[in-house]
Amino acid sequence: MVKQTIQIFARVKPPVRKHQQGIYSIDEDEKLIPSLEIILPRDLADGFVNNKRESYKFKFQRIFDQDANQETVFENIAKPVAGSVLAGYNGTIFAYGQTGSGKTFTITGGAERYSDRGIIPRTLSYIFEQLQKDSSKIYTTHISYLEIYNECGYDLLDPRHEASSLEDLPKVTILEDPDQNIHLKNLTLHQATTEEEALNLLFLGDTNRMIAETPMNQASTRSHCIFTIHLSSKEPGSATVRHAKLHLVDLAGSERVAKTGVGGHLLTEAKYINLSLHYLEQVIIALSEKHRSHIPYRNSMMTSVLRDSLGGNCMTTMIATLSLEKRNLDESISTCRFAQRVALIKNEAVLNEEINPRLVIKRLQKEIQELKDELAMVTGEQRTEALTEAELLQLEKLITSFLEDQDSDSRLEVGADMRKVHHCFHHLKKLLNDKKILENNTVSSESKDQDCQEPLKEEEYRKLRDILKQRDNEINILVNMLKKEKKKAQEALHLAGMDRREFRQSQSPPFRLGNPEEGQRMRLSSAPSQAQDFSILGKRSSLLHKKIGMREEMSLGCQEAFEIFKRDHADSVTIDDNKQILKQRFSEAKALGESINEARSKIGHLKEEITQRHIQQVALGISENMAVPLMPDQQEEKLRSQLEEEKRRYKTMFTRLKALKVEIEHLQLLMDKAKVKLQKEFEVWWAEEATNLQVNSPAVNSLDHTKPFLQTSDSQHEWSQLLSNKSDVNARKILPSPCPSPHSQKQSSTSTPLEDSIPKRPVSSIPLTGDSQTDSDIIAFIKARQSILQKQYLQLLCSLFPKSAVSSAQASTNRKGLSDVLVTR
Ligand code: ADP
Ligand code: MG
Repeated sequence: MVKQTIQIFARVKPPVRKHQQGIYSIDEDEKLIPSLEIILPRDLADGFVNNKRESYKFKFQRIFDQDANQETVFENIAKPVAGSVLAGYNGTIFAYGQTGSGKTFTITGGAERYSDRGIIPRTLSYIFEQLQKDSSKIYTTHISYLEIYNECGYDLLDPRHEASSLEDLPKVTILEDPDQNIHLKNLTLHQATTEEEALNLLFLGDTNRMIAETPMNQASTRSHCIFTIHLSSKEPGSATVRHAKLHLVDLAGSERVAKTGVGGHLLTEAKYINLSLHYLEQVIIALSEKHRSHIPYRNSMMTSVLRDSLGGNCMTTMIATLSLEKRNLDESISTCRFAQRVALIKNEAVLNEEINPRLVIKRLQKEIQELKDELAMVTGEQRTEALTEAELLQLEKLITSFLEDQDSDSRLEVGADMRKVHHCFHHLKKLLNDKKILENNTVSSESKDQDCQEPLKEEEYRKLRDILKQRDNEINILVNMLKKEKKKAQEALHLAGMDRREFRQSQSPPFRLGNPEEGQRMRLSSAPSQAQDFSILGKRSSLLHKKIGMREEMSLGCQEAFEIFKRDHADSVTIDDNKQILKQRFSEAKALGESINEARSKIGHLKEEITQRHIQQVALGISENMAVPLMPDQQEEKLRSQLEEEKRRYKTMFTRLKALKVEIEHLQLLMDKAKVKLQKEFEVWWAEEATNLQVNSPAVNSLDHTKPFLQTSDSQHEWSQLLSNKSDVNARKILPSPCPSPHSQKQSSTSTPLEDSIPKRPVSSIPLTGDSQTDSDIIAFIKARQSILQKQYLQLLCSLFPKSAVSSAQASTNRKGLSDVLVTR
């Protein structure tokens, strides 16, 4: 058992803008326990934080200042925890801090550079590297990814669902058994046999998380995400299995509701998240106080799930993420205070070992076989399960002679074979019983004989013997038939079994925790022994492909708008950069692959040469009548050293290629993710544009009862002018229409209010020819459309208001742009 308080670390995020000097200082030398001092500027010290104090000091295990990179953070914080998880202890690392302080950056990593990989990918890499090195144990790894939002759990790794909102993901619920163990119903565990598979799962979860998030529901700041690595290990032949879990937790933003100053729906949400973190704080307070018997874990889902991590069987580490800018000082102080409380909690981690009865039986069977073999070696005879016919006959003879021997000293010698001893007893028992029956029969037959004195006739005796023979034959035939039937049944069963297995392999859904319908309840705390493996790789790529492939379903106009949106988007630089890096890595990998092949064939040649040389030397030795050549062969030694050198080169290149493979995979996933993000942001923008048009168009429409849109001679003229320009025809395509989403087909019959609200009339009123479109065409179209609307608006004003008002409106439209004017009017 390892008793340990929760380890607390602090990480300071680099500032967005240049920091005001002297806001904080880090003291690393103070009796080896570093401390962070937050200094309040005078104007803030008089404010809400505290009227008197001007500085606050907090101790941490270690403080990572702005310049600490991801590698340092991993090496110092996560590596030791991963090490204890590999040894069989549970571990948890959670990041706590206000929104924007770097929790996600620390736990998952940045979305741009490979070097920005966070704790999760680095830990996966480290764990799989260690598993590969350790051949003394058999390891199994499973991954789960849970998001908790508004007290509801969602499975981020469900590949069957295409989440467009969080509610589309399977809901995870908590079940508690009579022993108070927590079960998570509906949370899937996925086996990952390699680092790549585990990374794919991480990206699948992150993508689902990103897609499920809408601007109204900024889930990432208001939800908790728990990425769990479940590790089981056992030594070959041992019945003891060790289970360990590593929770990597990205908590919701810890900011206070009072400061956000928002109202309505958002206010309720903000309170709710604080409530969840408030319950976490309550648990922490209860745990840090001595003699508290009741710890309120059950108050929230998050504290229930993390029950073991808080004051239980777990080695837990907290990272307090701080954004030490002037406006964030009160939040930073709260975060540090919270950390100081957390540091008081003592955990007791134990090795989670479990004995598997199936493995015990297997081990015992093996032991029996070994003992049998040993015995066979000692006695010189192979011992089978049963005695042979000859042995049995021999024994029975011995027993008979023993029984018949009148000598009281005579003994029944059968040797030290328990099978023979048992058989003797059985045989003696049988003889004794037979004798008893015979005696009884004799008594009864004697009395019968007295009634019926006539002896059996010869003929009757023969008849009875024939019947007996007949019955014997019948019995034999029946036994044969039965045997055949049994064999057939077994074959049928075997075939059915194979079919079922094949069917299951192709059909089976991923294993669910505690699904009562399937009767497959499983404790979260126990390892996923039956969880089914499935190729997440294909699922991930198909999901991402669908997300990215949505573009193919867009209308041409929508696609063009997307191209422009993409070009102007900040992330496109990152995507392009990553593309370049990826290209470089690919060509490096290609070159390496070629060099590796070359090295491999060179090694082959060298080996061949050495063998040839060897044969030659031996042949020479024989011809000169010498068993071993006297001088060491210089040429062979040279070849050998070349071979060693080549092998070293091969190994170095191979290791580099392996690392490159992981990097390429990571970069591809980053790009996929960035593309999905871009797509999603585009959809939001497109929908917003559509809504804006809807807000504006009724103003036009309501004024335009007599002259439908584009029906005035002027506007018609402008339109025809516009349309006469070939490329302008496409301008209509950029009118926002509902962008296809993965659900668009499914939902076509029940269109959403947003889809209803999108103006469709102008789109349908223009003939479609379809052609390529340049940006200037689009801008020209927008300008033209704007001027048409301006004209229509002014015409209407003329008919409704005096001239002066119209001229001021005209000036106003010129200044502000039409939509503003329409709205203000
Ligand atoms: P949180 O998850 O706490 O809301 P994020 O991790 O999303 O915060 O960080 C907010 C922004 O700050 C992100 O753009 C992230 O890349 C950046 N960031 C956070 N920490 C660091 C750091 N240590 N170094 C560089 N950039 C960082
Ligand atoms: Mg975050």
